[in-house]
Amino acid sequence: MSKTANEIDRFYRSLHATDNPHEGEWMAVILFVRNLLPRLSIYSDDKKSEIQFEVFEQLMENDFSEERLATVFGLLDGYLMQTIGALEMEEALTQEKRTAGLLISEMNEMISSMHGANERQDNRLSTFQEETAEAIREGSQKSHILSRVRGMFQELIEEFREEARVLNAKAEHFRMTADFDPLLTELHNRRSMETYLKGAVEEFARSGTSLSLMMIDVDHFKKVNDTYGHQAGDDVLRALAGIVTTHAVQYAGFAARYGGEELILAVQDMDLSQTAVKAEALRADVENYDFRVRTNGHLENTPINFTVSVGVARLKVGWTPGELIGAADAALYQAKNTGRNRVCTAPK
Ligand code: GH3
Ligand code: MG
Ligand code: MG
Repeated sequence: MSKTANEIDRFYRSLHATDNPHEGEWMAVILFVRNLLPRLSIYSDDKKSEIQFEVFEQLMENDFSEERLATVFGLLDGYLMQTIGALEMEEALTQEKRTAGLLISEMNEMISSMHGANERQDNRLSTFQEETAEAIREGSQKSHILSRVRGMFQELIEEFREEARVLNAKAEHFRMTADFDPLLTELHNRRSMETYLKGAVEEFARSGTSLSLMMIDVDHFKKVNDTYGHQAGDDVLRALAGIVTTHAVQYAGFAARYGGEELILAVQDMDLSQTAVKAEALRADVENYDFRVRTNGHLENTPINFTVSVGVARLKVGWTPGELIGAADAALYQAKNTGRNRVCTAPK
């Protein structure tokens, strides 16, 4: 996949080097294949490779013509039609109840805006042709006509570039919704975390870069919900996400929401006791946090104090991401069983 990505980048640069009237659309294709496709869980990895390979073959023709563009759009349409309603999609939907609907509607919007750009640009091109003809009819001096036409052409290109920028911004937004939790927006979602752990475990096997996990669970969270309401519970979770993110930033950790009120902070390059020290600092910060519910814009006088229990584990040789999570979970269970508001560490 990364070789393909490099090749696509090369194509992207060579497209930029030409004044291509379809630059906006080609960019949409490239954005789709390079930025969005790898993040769409509705396709299996095999399917993604297949789509990338097919589109890549088209790109390698170095032909930026309208006909080629139509071929590529047809290809992508074909894949979309194939996938919608397919089993893969339903599986992805059940796995990702909260975001899949959003992802799919945004993808559709993106695709239709690609078509929209197509039509708009076609119209823009015909106007350009008409204006050119008019300039020639009206003009007296050849140099005057040329400079006028060149000016119009630049405007046209600028407009297409603008469309490409809009698509780029959409791609970025899409990336965010695909990777982050919808409620605790600072935190990665579970799928993104699984991708991260898989990569980190592979890196450990390759280069020995260690990987440790903190599994964080709010103590007696049901009581918070029961006493103050679900909304206040959500606010507590947001506050916790903020604390966890602040810690994660300090040591380049990867923070994610593992489940309801269970968060994971993954760190590299730390041994078990170093990770436990960081986890203890995090636990203490949560305990000392003065959280107040906001009602009608005003902070309540009495704070809601909440605590977390943390399980810490470090990756061992031959372990899968699942085994690492299991070890952190077992340590968390121990922290819960020995009184909560504490950090427990998996055996070395
Ligand atoms: P323990 O100390 O054993 O962890 O007790 P607990 O009450 O926290 O128990 P548990 O972790 O099993 O309960 C999780 C509760 O968190 C259940 C569920 O109602 C609540 N919860 C899960 N996700 C959310 C959420 O997004 N918002 C709110 N407000 N509550 C949630
Ligand atoms: Mg809990
Ligand atoms: Mg829990």
